[in-house]
Parts: sequence; structure tokens; C-alpha cells
Amino acid sequence: FLPTMSAVEEITDAKEEEKKEKNGETFEFQADVGRVMDIIINSLYSNRDVFLRELVSNAADACDKKRFLSISGSSTDVDVSDLAKPSIRIRADRDAGTITIEDTGVGMTKSELQNNLGRIAQSGTRKFVEALGEGGTGDVNLIGQFGVGFYSAYLVADRVTVVTKSMQPNSKQLRWTSDASNSYTITEDEGEEGSDPIDGSGTRLILQLKDDALEYLEPSKLESLLEHYSEFIEFPISVWKEKT
Ligand code: ADP
Ligand code: MG
Repeated sequence: FLPTMSAVEEITDAKEEEKKEKNGETFEFQADVGRVMDIIINSLYSNRDVFLRELVSNAADACDKKRFLSISGSSTDVDVSDLAKPSIRIRADRDAGTITIEDTGVGMTKSELQNNLGRIAQSGTRKFVEALGEGGTGDVNLIGQFGVGFYSAYLVADRVTVVTKSMQPNSKQLRWTSDASNSYTITEDEGEEGSDPIDGSGTRLILQLKDDALEYLEPSKLESLLEHYSEFIEFPISVWKEKT
């Protein structure tokens, strides 16, 4: 039996797919994203603490969405068997130079990663882009009035990795990563080093800190920022302390 030409092609395609999943697929950011990242990085440099407020509020939003879906969603849409308590955990790893912010929220599917972290479609950041105006001539001092969102992670990190598992049934754990250039990759996450399986659903953000942002490795620094910014977050937030 000799496979027909189209069968051969199909086999090759399947192999390609497999390779893509293993090595990761690379995607370009929507053009606005690069512009917003540049503006955030250049105009908020002296106010970089805001990154924590933004990322913790995203974590809290994700916990809130999960709670809502658990109550209102039909069991065919969402995996209501996953009852992990909503919580947010923050950990600094001095040796690795990373901060990890982990929530037990809704998590993201592959298409949600692409739509939410690859484009400017969302509320706060979208309003910010609009306020800047077409040519980017708007007053950048206005930036303080907007949630600048996820991309503010790049104020303190030169690489951000998002490990996530959606609460949609049968979701795989995925890994999104980008060094803030014009592209990002998405890979299936199969327990690479430092990548524990996510129990139920949720999102783990790993910030590889810039050399000049290592002050954020100090748990007391993180705690004082949380007191300042996140006192109205309704979910428990814990900060890991290294044993001394
Ligand atoms: P906004 O919070 O104003 O929507 P962000 O830039 O902060 O804008 O976040 C963009 C989107 O990315 C969010 O709306 C959400 O869909 C998704 N997202 C970000 N962080 C998380 C998270 N921890 N868990 C689930 N989804 C998230
Ligand atoms: Mg946000």
C-alpha cells in the first residue's frame, strides 16, 4: 500500500502540528501593543511600583470571574468540580531573580491568551490608547488615571511568563512568554523546571526582574506596596517569606 499524495501531506501536517506544540508557536503582537509598552515603560519609569497593583487586580478579577461562573455557569460550560478557594499568592525567588504572582482564578485558554495578552482589546488599556490619540500626542501624564494593565509588568521585568490553565473542561496547562519585543510564544506546559502543575484552574505570572528592579525581591517591599495599593482586594493575598 502506497499512501496517496494527500495522505502524505496529512502526515506531514500532523508532524508539524506536533512540533509546533512542543517548540511553541510564535505570534506577533498587535501593533498597538508595542506602542503602549513603549509609552508605559518610558512614562511610568519613576512610578514602577504600579505594576503590583495592576497584576494583583488582574488576579482578583480572575478570582471574581471564577466565582461568578461557578455560581451562574451551567456545568457543561465550566468545571464546577474545581472548588479551589480564591486566593492570590506572591513569591520572590532571590536566586532566580523572579517574582511569581499566582491566582486560583479562571485561567486562560489559548485563544484567550492571544486575545487578552496579544492585543489591546480590554477596558483600561483601550481607554488609555484612545486618550493618547491617533498620533500618540495625548498627554502621557494622563496615564495615572488609567489602569495600564498587564503590560505594566514590563516596567520591572525583561521577560514575563504566564503559566495558565483555564477552568473550561479539558484545558491543558499553557505557557505564554515574551521579552516585550514584537512577539510572544505559546507552548503546552508539561512541567518544565519551575513549572508545577496548576491545581484546578488559575494563572501564574513569572516576572524575570530587570537588574535595576531587584528591590522587589524583598518581601517587606512587596508587603508595603500591597498595603498601599491593594487594601480593597477582597481575596486573601499571601506573600511567601524565605526561611532564614
Ligand atoms: P484589563 O484588566 O483592564 O482588562 P489588563 O491589561 O490588565 O486589562 O488585562 C488584559 C486581560 O488579560 C484581562 O481583561 C483578562 O482577560 C486577561 N488577564 C490578565 N491577567 C489575568 C489573570 N491573572 N487571569 C486571567 N486572565 C487574566
Ligand atoms: Mg487589569
